[in-house]
Amino acid sequence: MTSMTPQQLWQAALGELELALSKANFTTWFKSTFISEMDEARVTISVPNAFTKAWLEKKYHSAILKALQNILNAPIRDVQYRVETRIAGEPARTQVAMPVNQTVAVTDVPAMPEAPPALDAEPAGERGFRRHYTFESFVVGKGNELAHAAAQAVADAPGRKYNPLYLYGGVGLGKTHLLQAIGNKMLEKNPGARVLYVSSEQFTNDYIAAVRAGLAKEFKDRYRTVDLLIVDDIQFFANKESTQEEFFHTFNTLHQENRQVVLSSDRPPKSIPTIQERLVSRLEMGMVIDVSPPDLETRIAILRSKCQEKGVHLSDDILTTIAAGVTSNVRELEGALNKIHAYHQFKNIPPTVETVKNIISSYSINPAKKTITARQLIATVAAYYDLKIDDLLGKSREKKLAFPRQVLMFLMREEMKSSFPAIGTEIGGRDHTTAIHACTKISLLVEKDEKLRQDISLLKERVYHAA
Ligand code: ADP
Ligand code: MG
Repeated sequence: MTSMTPQQLWQAALGELELALSKANFTTWFKSTFISEMDEARVTISVPNAFTKAWLEKKYHSAILKALQNILNAPIRDVQYRVETRIAGEPARTQVAMPVNQTVAVTDVPAMPEAPPALDAEPAGERGFRRHYTFESFVVGKGNELAHAAAQAVADAPGRKYNPLYLYGGVGLGKTHLLQAIGNKMLEKNPGARVLYVSSEQFTNDYIAAVRAGLAKEFKDRYRTVDLLIVDDIQFFANKESTQEEFFHTFNTLHQENRQVVLSSDRPPKSIPTIQERLVSRLEMGMVIDVSPPDLETRIAILRSKCQEKGVHLSDDILTTIAAGVTSNVRELEGALNKIHAYHQFKNIPPTVETVKNIISSYSINPAKKTITARQLIATVAAYYDLKIDDLLGKSREKKLAFPRQVLMFLMREEMKSSFPAIGTEIGGRDHTTAIHACTKISLLVEKDEKLRQDISLLKERVYHAA
């Protein structure tokens, strides 16, 4: 293995933190951070400004500490934060290992404004592309080949083939990678192309900020004149009517002028409870493709490719061990690889199948065998349908509540093998006949309703992933 740099350690830690935090928080607070110094007991993290420093110290210190300890399997005792700016694109300083003999008090926190500086995270004018997300670095296999082919077709002939292109699937399966690859390829072929990548949250924040500042026209000029607009994770389009209205018109304008729109989500358009029907039908006009988890062979190929990128050599035995142990998604696969690399680097020993097995044991719980609780299931169903838990379990028979409630009862029966009386009791103290009715109804509906089938499989994926 090559020597591990603080940068690689931080990347691995960021991988863990990203899984633990919401996307918006992650981007806002961890963008432009890096490790500037480290030794066996202490890590110093550089941050771009005092505000971020205070925020990390106050809110994320223990998560950061845990992530680092996790990766190194070592008792890092201290993490410090230091304001230090770095020119964008300049690599982080590497291989600095200096003993530091004075601990900076982490209690020295300035007064804390409450709202995060959302717009700072993605300054206007920046196109939002990460260069290494390319088609070349994307491994094609079962589960993503259709999405990959469509993405390439779109990059080759934007605005003409599939418009919009809509990719959906669980976390860490390469949607963002493919979306960015489209933009990167277009820019490569035509450096003057106007391409824009935003998350739905950035779109929302941008729009709200623009309206507040009296810059709605500038907003329109920016978004409605691009050749390619990519909006990632549109399930986070909140129920904000004005924002959706704006997105709807942006979409229509671009579409009419044969400009390409590419979107992603964790589920098909119809299953996003917060978006309006007319937007759903617009989204379905183009190409809707799902991305599913890679099979073993693809996982091994992905590991091989990541090793090559990082200049790490691991035997086939070890690659197979990792791929067999980490099955849920590519992000975790990468995380496991980084962790393994970091660990052996830190201990200065060569990796063996045994040591690797040890490290990935935390990943290798077979999702099908995980046990889930009623609480987890309730929370998952509530979040999926964008409902409050109290409403989901409450008395109202309004369809938008009653149907998810029936799905919930069905899942308790199927996945937890709960008895009907137990389900009734758990779901707002209902009678067991209500539970029987719900389970029968949903199991019949599942047979013929494709959308419901998809919703249920996404719900399962989610609850087991979170468990
Ligand atoms: P999603 O947007 O679906 O949550 P990402 O695109 O962020 O997933 O992927 C998570 C990580 O896994 C990224 O680092 C990405 O480069 C990598 N990845 C996912 N799929 C592949 C693949 N088929 N080949 C190579 N890398 C992949
Ligand atoms: Mg993504």
